[in-house]
Amino acid sequence: DQASTPSASGITVIRKKLQGYVGFANLPNQVHRKSVKTGFQFTCMVVGESGLGKSTLVNTLFNTQLYPPKEIAELTAELPQTVEIKSTTADIEENGVKLKLTVVDTPGFGDFVNNEESWKPILDDIESRCDAYLEQENRVNRRKMADNRIHACLYFISPTGHALKAVDIEFMRRLHTRVNLIPIIAKADTMTEEEVVAFKERILADINYHQIQIYQAPVYEYDDMETIAENSEIMSKIPFAVVGSDKEFDVDGRRVRGRMYPWGIIEVDNEDHCDFVKLRQMLIRTHMEELKEYTNDVLYENYRTEKLTAMGIQQDPSVFKEVNPTQKMEEERLAHEQKLAKMESEMRAVFQAKVTEKEAKLKHSEAELYARHKEMKEALDRQRADLEEKKRRLESGRPNTPEKGKKKGFSFNK
Ligand code: GDP
Repeated sequence: DQASTPSASGITVIRKKLQGYVGFANLPNQVHRKSVKTGFQFTCMVVGESGLGKSTLVNTLFNTQLYPPKEIAELTAELPQTVEIKSTTADIEENGVKLKLTVVDTPGFGDFVNNEESWKPILDDIESRCDAYLEQENRVNRRKMADNRIHACLYFISPTGHALKAVDIEFMRRLHTRVNLIPIIAKADTMTEEEVVAFKERILADINYHQIQIYQAPVYEYDDMETIAENSEIMSKIPFAVVGSDKEFDVDGRRVRGRMYPWGIIEVDNEDHCDFVKLRQMLIRTHMEELKEYTNDVLYENYRTEKLTAMGIQQDPSVFKEVNPTQKMEEERLAHEQKLAKMESEMRAVFQAKVTEKEAKLKHSEAELYARHKEMKEALDRQRADLEEKKRRLESGRPNTPEKGKKKGFSFNK
């Protein structure tokens, strides 16, 4: 039950089979319980001309009265002069699981004679939410970060059956890099099945032509065939042709949500009647976390990078250094290394100078010694020469007393 394999790095990896139940197979349940305890949070934006059924659809999606039904007076009241941003939050619960749902409505969008700049207040709102998040990230205490970023934007397309309007294209073109765009054909019950098919094709062609990036569910390596099939089925319905309703009717003894027509009832929750079920499945059952992840990892990350880069270009580059921790660390490391190298070269120079000085001194004393030695030797030579000169003179002063004579004399004295 044990195998050792030395890895390339020389570390031995021990693979063991468990002999009993340890309990980490239970980890997913812990995550699940924690999530249930803390609850989930999701922020969704709805954009489209007024009267397209946005409020009705949100109520139908989450099975709640997030928006009270509009009074006739409200519908006929004077429209706002500018695009407004209205945020509504509700804590909803299903089988003990809590969801904090925030819906951001944009009343006024597309309602003016000139809608050229309609996208701007919405983009500003999305970006300011990212800024608020960025600001929290830069704080020292990052434990409780409020995430008010928009995780998905449902864009309601008017069921004209022709093509996208200029305002639709402009909005999607301006927003697609900032938010998960989910295009929707509103009030699909007002079109025939064939009209819906043709309209979808037309919309997708326009989206492709303008290179607009709409939300695509990612496919992972670990996805099983069933998940892949389910996802591609959902994706094939985009743009979702939806019907919303807060009314219920009896159909063959079943209570169904739908809209009544003289020729029958269009059922909201019937996949044969519209794409409502697929939209709900994607938004709530299968892709809510995915939408949040993509918002955080890709859309927000890109925005953050762009923002910091722009700051770096517009301002003093040192400001940029301050806000980019990795670059800052790298620069500090380089500066430190340069300082060390400089110190080392200075020390080497000092050492070299000292060595040269010492060598010079040694050479000097060697020369001195040599000179003294030479002097002494010369003095000694001179002394010797003197002495020899004296000796010679003495000897030459007594020419008849050679060595032998001395001896004779000695013996003579005796
Ligand atoms: P909003 O202004 O976009 O929020 O639109 P509302 O949700 O207030 O709906 C405006 C009107 O359209 C209301 O009278 C709704 O009953 C009606 N409506 C909403 N959804 C649909 C739909 O899917 N089909 C049809 N035919 N009418 C709808």
